[in-house]
Amino acid sequence: MAKSSKGSSDEQAAMAALSPFELKDELIKAAGGGAVERAANASMLNAGRGNPNFLATIPRHGFWQLGLFAMRESERSFAYMPEGVGGFPKREGLTERFELFLRENRGVPGIDFLGGAVSYVRDQLGLSAGDFLYEMCEGILASNYPVPDRMLKLSEIIVGQYLRREMIGKHPFVGEFDIFAVEGGTAAMTYIFNTMRENHLIKAGDTIALGMPIFTPYIEIPRLNDYQLNVVNLDADVKKNWQYSKKELDKLRDPKVKAFFLVNPSNPPSVKMDATSLEYIAEIVKERPDLILLTDDVYGTFADDFVSLFALAPKNTILVYSYSKYFGATGWRLGTIATHRDNVLDKLLAELPKDVKKELHHRYESITTEPDKLKFIDRLVADSRTVALNHTAGLSTPQQVQMVLFSLFSLMDTRDAYKNALKRLIRNRKQALYEEMGISFADDDPNQVDYYTILDMEFLGERMYGREFVDWLLTNTARPDLLFRLAREARVVLLPGLGFGTLHPSGRVSLANLNESDYRQIGRAIRKLTEEYVDRYNAASGKKLDKNKVL
Ligand SMILES: *Cc1c(COP(=O)(O)O)cnc(C)c1O
Repeated sequence: MAKSSKGSSDEQAAMAALSPFELKDELIKAAGGGAVERAANASMLNAGRGNPNFLATIPRHGFWQLGLFAMRESERSFAYMPEGVGGFPKREGLTERFELFLRENRGVPGIDFLGGAVSYVRDQLGLSAGDFLYEMCEGILASNYPVPDRMLKLSEIIVGQYLRREMIGKHPFVGEFDIFAVEGGTAAMTYIFNTMRENHLIKAGDTIALGMPIFTPYIEIPRLNDYQLNVVNLDADVKKNWQYSKKELDKLRDPKVKAFFLVNPSNPPSVKMDATSLEYIAEIVKERPDLILLTDDVYGTFADDFVSLFALAPKNTILVYSYSKYFGATGWRLGTIATHRDNVLDKLLAELPKDVKKELHHRYESITTEPDKLKFIDRLVADSRTVALNHTAGLSTPQQVQMVLFSLFSLMDTRDAYKNALKRLIRNRKQALYEEMGISFADDDPNQVDYYTILDMEFLGERMYGREFVDWLLTNTARPDLLFRLAREARVVLLPGLGFGTLHPSGRVSLANLNESDYRQIGRAIRKLTEEYVDRYNAASGKKLDKNKVL
């Protein structure tokens, strides 16, 4: 595929149907980075991956040390058996033995952190240190099913504090929320779509709204035969620094729109929604109290002073969060779904027509004596294991332990040292990229998060060389062609922005996955390709654009 520079129109149509993540595989092949070539080919620069190349070490050290302590607990609770049989940890004297363990291992990475974490839980959160250690030891040994299945008790409180700090911050927030610990943002999305459908909150033929451009699964799931939803796009505007105009947000006033799905900060523009837009949506919700909002705030922790839509419209909003990006933990599969205790979903469930309620009563009667009162979030848990396996539902307990340690690490970091280090890292990469491209205006918006950056061909091309050049470029290059040329000639892989629903042809550069010098190299490759197109344009049009221009 895609050997010739243009490709046949059949090939182009096939490419256009691919999700950006599938197209990426084709681009990698074009860059000579297939499985066979990979070993010999260290020089391919794949900026298509959202997976970070950094990870949080301290809470991982904490995890392994806690594991050693828990193993000791298991072995001391049973008479010694050389065959390798241990028992459950014992609650009595646990804190004292833990103190001893800390003293014995002073100076070992992770030990200070663990000691600090237990103090934080006791002194700052007012929880019992012994109960906490017991939950963590049992959890890391993984010798019991997760109980409660939605989330372990103290773990929920601690993760709740973390979400409050990162997603709500100083914004006023009345009431409490429940959390379901899940296998990453991926599972969160799957579970939420499924339970909304099973519970008739969205039916085939219903309309939902999407904040575009957006992480592609949100575009693809509603189109599946399982869902068959109509979609209204709210388009963010590159000329407005990727914010939504009031006119776009006003589409949510239409009572036909049952739910609005948002990724904030966005993927791929990587810009957080500004305060005006958040407040505007909160105003619309007052007029439309039945509107369901879902906000996927995976990137919130990378933003300056982030406030989630969940803080402004808590009763209408399902909050999705994942530990994957911020802690470099995609392999752990750690995410959360949070809903306010007083929420529109439960209200809508109570208002369903009689016959539907009867059907749902039947669906959930095996797990509770009062199925009508089963909350939406508990329906998510049950549906995640086909209801019948509800008693063995829930996220594996070692996963919950690592989630708690990540959360505590962040809560204890009152000066935001880790956060600032990550921000510095990705922002320096971005600066390196743009500098080599000859562009200096890309850094002036406080809402930018810079986990990704979109190179919008029309927007950047027009600002650099004018409208006529862009028009010529658009008519003289096939769609994924520029991305394929970058892959073949410079071995640089970017994802096509159009696949995420951008309005203009563009490339998504992940700033998370490569080193600064790589971004310089990518910037130079893009610049070189652009200059070549300027030469061709000058030759074709007789114009004399200065290809060495910098902005
Ligand atoms: C990466 C990403 C996810 C997936 O997160 P996992 O926790 O790794 O499954 C979800 N939503 C968005 C917007 C993402 O970018």
